[in-house]
Amino acid sequence: MPTINEILEQKLFSKDNLISLLKAEGADGLHLLQKAGELKLQTVGNKVYFRGLIELSNVCEKDCLYCGIRRSNSKVNRYNLTDEEVLEAARFAYRERYGSIVIQSGEVTNETFVARIERLITKIKQLSGNKLGITLSLGEQTKEVYCRWFTAGAHRYLLRIESSNPYLYQKLHPGDGNHTYEQRLEALRLIKKIGYQTGTGVMIGTPFQTLEDLAGDLLFFKDFDIDMVGMGPFIEHDDTPFNTPHADALPLSARFNLSLKMVAILRLMMPDINIAATTALQAIDPLGREKAVKAGANIIMPNITPGTYRNNYLLYNNKPCTDEEPEQCTGCLDTRLALADSEIGYGEWGDSKHFKENKNF
Ligand code: SAH
Repeated sequence: MPTINEILEQKLFSKDNLISLLKAEGADGLHLLQKAGELKLQTVGNKVYFRGLIELSNVCEKDCLYCGIRRSNSKVNRYNLTDEEVLEAARFAYRERYGSIVIQSGEVTNETFVARIERLITKIKQLSGNKLGITLSLGEQTKEVYCRWFTAGAHRYLLRIESSNPYLYQKLHPGDGNHTYEQRLEALRLIKKIGYQTGTGVMIGTPFQTLEDLAGDLLFFKDFDIDMVGMGPFIEHDDTPFNTPHADALPLSARFNLSLKMVAILRLMMPDINIAATTALQAIDPLGREKAVKAGANIIMPNITPGTYRNNYLLYNNKPCTDEEPEQCTGCLDTRLALADSEIGYGEWGDSKHFKENKNF
């Protein structure tokens, strides 16, 4: 079996290599994180780009077994931001020179919702003189809907595959015929074909997941030639079927370390993509996002949802920053990122270099 050093010298990693890297501990583990951090600096540089996250609504038609805002959770206080609140958040992001926003929501597919998003995209483009980049994270929709939103001006779409192993995917989602792996994959294919910069990702440390599954996820990102990835630790939510740790569940700290290794390995495999330092990392370690930036991530999504709603978009227990207003985020992040030897790409879209090079822009 090759050593971690030997594997890290290679250009391509086999599935077995990936599993060895995911198992790397101590000095080997540190070497992996360091090497990925160095490669990031050489390829995409030391800038971290902001995507102001607007959590538009927690109303959801889906019933994912892990998610706090799943349809069957009757304890959730369901909300919808008003149009004016969304536009105000977008103005805030523009004023603070965040470059881009992400509109995320539970999954809703009716025409009222679709038309509303279309209108909001148009208005956000107008209020920012076309300057604010718009990423959507609104779940599975039809080809027509993805096209309408793209035409209105959204240019990136995030849809996590959640797991690239169809059997595991099935175990994490209800078997009601309304939520299949094939549908999810098809949605991702559509998003890519329409021309969005395409983002996906997985949770790390879910029930039933193995290291082989995670290695498969990394290979999936590469095979799919993805532009952006967001992945973070799975964290239990009290009011879901996965509320208590599974018998062989990893402790949160191990899920955290594994997530950092996933980020680092992915950076080595796909040097020019955008990788997010996700909020779930910060839920486990207060410096989680900064550690991910050091290990290869280059995107952060500060939450700019109006403070009053944040307590209701709880995907998992202990979600951080739910008691803050958007104004408090910027200063906090500026300082934190300086500590991680990075600077913020203010006023820039920070598009995936990978996407640009593929399209010859
Ligand atoms: N409705 C949108 C947005 C979903 S929320 C969509 O379907 O794309 C964004 C992500 O949060 C999900 O894709 C999932 O990977 C993650 N998430 C949900 N519940 C979680 C939990 N308990 N722990 C960690 N991440 C979770």
